[in-house]
Amino acid sequence: MSDVIIVGAGPTGLMLAAELRLAGIRPLVLERQPRPRDTPKAGGIGGQILELLRYRGVLERFQAACTDPIPAPRFPFGGVHVDLTQLEGNPMHALPLPQQQLERVLNEWVDELGVDIRRGHRVLGVEQDAEGVCVDVEGPDGTYRLDARYLIGCDGARSRVRELAGIPFSGTVYPEVNRLAQITVPESVTRLDNGDLEVPGFGTVRSGFTRTERGLFGMAAAPNSDSLSVYTIEDEDAEYDDDVPLTVAELQESIQRVLGANLPVAQTYRLSRFTFKACQSERYREGRVLLAGDAAHLFPATGVALNAGMLDAVNLAWKLAAVVDGRVSEQLLDTYHEERHFAGARTMLHTRAQVALRRGHDPAAEALRAVFQELLTDEQPLRRMGAFIAGSDIRYPLPNSNNHALTGAFAPDLELHADDGIHTVAELLAAARPVLLILSDRADLADIAREWLPHLEIRTAKLDDRPADALLIRPDAHIAWAAAIDEPIAAAEPALRAALETWIGTPGQR
Ligand SMILES: Cc1cc2nc3c(=O)[nH]c(=O)nc-3n(C[C@H](O)[C@H](O)[C@H](O)COP(=O)(O)OP(=O)(O)OC[C@H]3O[C@@H](n4cnc5c(N)ncnc54)[C@H](O)[C@@H]3O)c2cc1C
Repeated sequence: MSDVIIVGAGPTGLMLAAELRLAGIRPLVLERQPRPRDTPKAGGIGGQILELLRYRGVLERFQAACTDPIPAPRFPFGGVHVDLTQLEGNPMHALPLPQQQLERVLNEWVDELGVDIRRGHRVLGVEQDAEGVCVDVEGPDGTYRLDARYLIGCDGARSRVRELAGIPFSGTVYPEVNRLAQITVPESVTRLDNGDLEVPGFGTVRSGFTRTERGLFGMAAAPNSDSLSVYTIEDEDAEYDDDVPLTVAELQESIQRVLGANLPVAQTYRLSRFTFKACQSERYREGRVLLAGDAAHLFPATGVALNAGMLDAVNLAWKLAAVVDGRVSEQLLDTYHEERHFAGARTMLHTRAQVALRRGHDPAAEALRAVFQELLTDEQPLRRMGAFIAGSDIRYPLPNSNNHALTGAFAPDLELHADDGIHTVAELLAAARPVLLILSDRADLADIAREWLPHLEIRTAKLDDRPADALLIRPDAHIAWAAAIDEPIAAAEPALRAALETWIGTPGQR
């Protein structure tokens, strides 16, 4: 019997596999496709997941795989541009790493970690009881059965696992299709200095957004290249399968419908299409079956789904490992639903707001966009918006008896002065282990935490302007508990003990 079976080797399943290996579990990954996919999907990845990958010490691999230069931090937000270049300490990090390359780097990482991925193995059936999960699989040599203690559906938007577990996935489907590509144009088309195109027989096609009665056309020069990024948005009530790629003819027909003109194309790259849904699984856990990534949520805006899905994986892995190891009760897995459903709902909130901003075509909608754009010239709303898109503002609703502002937040990468050569919080979290970071002379707190060794790192460091006397940081880099400066031990001890028992287990276990 496997401890954990992961269904799906997309970004979420691969990230979960890597994090489980770091936590000491050897999962089995089942993927229906015989080889890594080459259909273009996301053009990049952004948000808090990049901070987490940096904390794990692997961000450089992902940066090295980027083929395009790192763009200025500007983001479309429902037809409004959020220009984060004005901000000092920009809260939103992004990498122009197409999904195929992202998956390649993730595949290399999980290979090094020794994860078993069975490609060409499709999950057909899932049944569970109190003891475990039974999985029916169709592989190249026929069907077979596997048993596991837990099964995680990272099997995408049309999740079979979600359906078999009977988890409702309700929400809104927007009748809208987006098609995008990078193109070059033939010599007959003139590129003007201002980025516009002169198309023979039609006239000028403007750079930026062109709204017509039939939809929206967007065009921008790709950085440092001859190519142009183009896209169309049309109202259309059709269902498309993400695995069926957009064709050049389909793109050109769409441009023709929106602009009323044929835009000649010489070459095309990265053709892709997406539709927008706002759906979230009611439960992320049903007994021994859990969901993560697109199987758990679909957001009606771009640029946030990978961040959300891979962070689901990071939140789940160490909890699952602790439960499989028998150190904590299965109830810990309910906190995965509580925290990640909460985070998903917050992402849903701002992506639904983007729908309202984006879809209106009348003067009132234009006014809404103009007001929004104006608000985003001020620092505070701009900073708030950057944090919203990045997901860096998410503070999990954790027990917080001393009401510390850092409890539930992503641990900031504090610069530490320590005797053992550890200089940052990021370095402490590379091994994905929980850490009690003591930032003042609090031997009393360290004495309590020692009962939880060896399942906890205890580190002491100094820093110039400490935010707390001590921080208990979970493997997912979220702060589980913090001691206020000079907090009396009588107040700090019960909350510290409760946090250690919740997140690490009963003390004294080997
Ligand atoms: C055109 C397009 C552009 C996008 N742009 C962005 C973007 O810019 N930024 C962003 O963050 N997101 C973007 N997204 C969304 C992003 O691609 C998804 O959020 C991401 O792929 C979700 O990852 P996942 O691992 O959860 O699911 P998936 O990537 O869907 O992976 C699921 C895996 O499960 C496998 N599987 C399914 N059923 C079974 C089964 N029964 N048995 C075994 N295996 C199974 C599938 O073959 C697949 O490999 C875009 C999507 C599209 C389509």
